[in-house]
Amino acid sequence: MKTNLLTALLLLGFSSAYTQSVILHCGSLIDGISDAPRKNVSVIITGNRISDVKDGFVNGAAQDKVIDLRRQTVTPGWMDMHVHLESETNKNAYTEKFTLNPADYAFQSAVFAERTLMAGFTTVRDLGGSGVNISLRNAINKGLVKGPRVFTAGKSIATTGGHADPTNGYRRELMGDPGPEAGVVNGPDDCRKAVRQAYKYGSDLIKITATGGVLSVAKDGSSPQFTEEELKAIVETARDYNMRVAAHAHGAEGIKRAIRAGVHSIEHGTLMDDEAMALAKQYGTWYVPTIIAGRSTADSAKIPGYYPALVQPKALTIGPKLQGTFARAYKAGVKIAFGTDAGVFMHGRNWLEFSYMVEGGMPAMETIKAATIHAADLLGMKDQLGSITPGKLADIVAVDGDPLQDIQSMGKVCFVMKDGLIFKHTTPNLAAAKTE
Ligand SMILES: [Zn+2]
Repeated sequence: MKTNLLTALLLLGFSSAYTQSVILHCGSLIDGISDAPRKNVSVIITGNRISDVKDGFVNGAAQDKVIDLRRQTVTPGWMDMHVHLESETNKNAYTEKFTLNPADYAFQSAVFAERTLMAGFTTVRDLGGSGVNISLRNAINKGLVKGPRVFTAGKSIATTGGHADPTNGYRRELMGDPGPEAGVVNGPDDCRKAVRQAYKYGSDLIKITATGGVLSVAKDGSSPQFTEEELKAIVETARDYNMRVAAHAHGAEGIKRAIRAGVHSIEHGTLMDDEAMALAKQYGTWYVPTIIAGRSTADSAKIPGYYPALVQPKALTIGPKLQGTFARAYKAGVKIAFGTDAGVFMHGRNWLEFSYMVEGGMPAMETIKAATIHAADLLGMKDQLGSITPGKLADIVAVDGDPLQDIQSMGKVCFVMKDGLIFKHTTPNLAAAKTE
């Protein structure tokens, strides 16, 4: 009976699903591990995994599909460690939470997710939304929506009045007193409850706002907002549930407390001093700079009325400092993973961060590693993602041109494969015509 079924499947043409490989002929391969690109190699993908990488251009079996990327640069799929897929900056952003329903967020997040994937980002960490980001991840995993692999924090955790308290700036009776279920905590018990609640809702990791922030309707953008006791309660509980902790932090004191408590990454890190950098190195804490967010919020703040009155001065003073901090942290040897805060600026422009990192003194090859193998390390997924090596999941991107010579090539994505499936493949001419 088994044989009959197999014969039937073969006659129906289903055999290819079992045996067909995809072979990429790569003129230049940046594999995420090597310090120099490999020239003229074939990457072989079977199912959703990379099965082999061979020197020269091999053709495989008759049924295999060969894709010509001989004039492109091929890299592992890029990984943005800081995005917000539910929303995108616009002049009405501060009233949207009163006018949009969860379904509205869901539809727009699907658009932003697809745009992110088409820009070459095959994996993201969603560091905070309403919880729609959890449903979005599930829909992408089911194949209902085109988007990157999403590792989501669900809703961020903040203290009362803290950066991610969702009722900041409301009038009193609308503020109410949101508790741990809404991600607003006070004291270690609340912290533990909020982490467990996030786990129950389906979050993959925990995001906290360890200091004030730029875009919240609150005066302070950088002072600490958690006690060390609270931070420890969060990290320890998250560890119990096998979740990692990402800490938004601008000011040095909040950064140091978060590092000492054992968070896995510092997001933004704008006012990091030398002591904080030394601590990050000592604890092995990752730094996710989001230079583009600093620059774009400072630009938007110059447009009259774009941000509320409390937000504008913070965006103007904090935003422009990020690139300098990044440059110092890189020189100091702090571990850096690529992240942008997309949503604070337009989704799909995440790649500009590569050029800002190069401007800040990081070699192009290092920026690509920050967005591939190092990001995979931060996620705890280094054995599955982040390099083009046999056995890893087949997330692969190709760009026109050579990013090691001209980093703007990262904006010319012409091929995107995620999990062995091709989501984008344009000829160079078409890609050139479509470039914004
Ligand atoms: Zn953010």
